Amino acid sequence: MNNNKQSTPVLTDPFGRRIEYIRLSVTDQCDLRCFYCMPEGYRDFEEPKHWLSFDEIERVIRAFSTLGTRRVRITGGEPLVRKDLPVLINKLNQLDGVEDLSLSTNATRLHKQAQQLSDAGITRINVSLDTLKAERFKQITGGKFDKVMAGLMTAKQAGFKPIKINMVAMQGINDDEIEDMVEFCIEHDFTLRFIETMPMGDTGRQASEHYLDLKQVKQRLSERYELIPGTMPGGGPARYVQIAGSDLRIGFITPISQHFCETCNRVRLSVDGTLYMCLGQEHKFELRPLLRAGISDEELLDVIKHAITLKPEKHEFSSKPQQTVRFMSMTGG
Ligand code: SAM
Ligand code: SF4
Repeated sequence: MNNNKQSTPVLTDPFGRRIEYIRLSVTDQCDLRCFYCMPEGYRDFEEPKHWLSFDEIERVIRAFSTLGTRRVRITGGEPLVRKDLPVLINKLNQLDGVEDLSLSTNATRLHKQAQQLSDAGITRINVSLDTLKAERFKQITGGKFDKVMAGLMTAKQAGFKPIKINMVAMQGINDDEIEDMVEFCIEHDFTLRFIETMPMGDTGRQASEHYLDLKQVKQRLSERYELIPGTMPGGGPARYVQIAGSDLRIGFITPISQHFCETCNRVRLSVDGTLYMCLGQEHKFELRPLLRAGISDEELLDVIKHAITLKPEKHEFSSKPQQTVRFMSMTGG
C-alpha cells in the first residue's frame, strides 16, 4: 500500500457523488445462517468457475484505484471461507492508490487467521455480533458463540485497531442487550455500531418485522450515559457519538429511519464479477464476461466509468420493500 502516490479522482456518478469506496465480496458462501441474511439450509451458491480469480480481482481493484477509489473493504458471504485470502490481501495491499484495506467478518475463523490477515496488510476489521448470549447466538446465526469470542480476542491480541462490532438491533430479539453490548465494548476497547434491519430478500423482509428505529436506541442510551458528538475514520455511513469519560464510540447505521443515499460513495463487486450500484436496487454491470474476453486495461477503465453512470439516486427500502430479491450475502454487505 502506497499512501504517497495520489491518482486523480475521476469517478463521479450522475448525482455528483464521488465513488471512492468499493466493497469486494470474495465469496457468497458462509458458515453461519444469520436469520436476517441467509435462509436456513441455503446452498444455492455461485459456481466456482464463475468466481473471479485473485488475478481478476486485482485487475478490477487496480482499475478502480486508478480512477480514484481509495478504500477497499473485503466482505462476503463470509470472506474467511475463501481459500488463501491472505494471498489476495497481499496483492491488494501492493496497489498504489489503495489507502485503506479493511475486512468484515463473522469471526468464526479469526482465531486461526487473525495473525495471517494482519501480516498480509489488514489493519482494521468489523465483526458481526448481535448478542452476548451463547444460546441466543445459536438461534440468530446457527453458530457457536465461543468460537466467535475466541476469534475476537485473538484479533484484539493481533493488534487490529479499531475493531468495530456490528450489531443488527432488533425488537424482541436482542434489544434487551443494548447496554450490555455497550459495556462489553468499553471493556474491550471496541467500537460499537448499531444497524437497522434492511428488507433484502425474504430473509431481510421477515427480519424487518423486528425493525427497531435506532433513534429509540440513541434516546435510551442518552438516559443512561452522557453522549457527546463523536467521529470515526472509515468513510462509511455511520453517525457517531461518544460516551463521555470513555473512549467508546457508538455508530448508528440508519438506512431506513434516516437514509444516507445522498452521500453514498460506494459500489459493490460480487464474487461473480458483477458490479452492484446499490444495495436496494437491481442496477448492475457484469464485468466477468469482459475480463474473460480479454478486455484491455484502457477499455476496463472506460467500462467502469460507464458502469458508474448506472448508479441510482437512492434505495427504496421503505416505499418498495418487496423490491430487493437478493439477500445481503449475495451482494456483499
Ligand atoms: N459475513 C460477514 C459478517 O457477517 O460480518 C460479512 C458479510 S455480512 C452480509 C455484512 C453485514 O451485513 C453484517 O454486519 C450483517 O449483520 C449485515 N446484514 C446482513 N443482512 C442484513 C439485513 N437484512 N439487514 C441489515 N443488516 C444485514
Ligand atoms: Fe453469514 Fe454475515 Fe450473512 Fe451472517 S450476516 S449469514 S455471517 S454473510
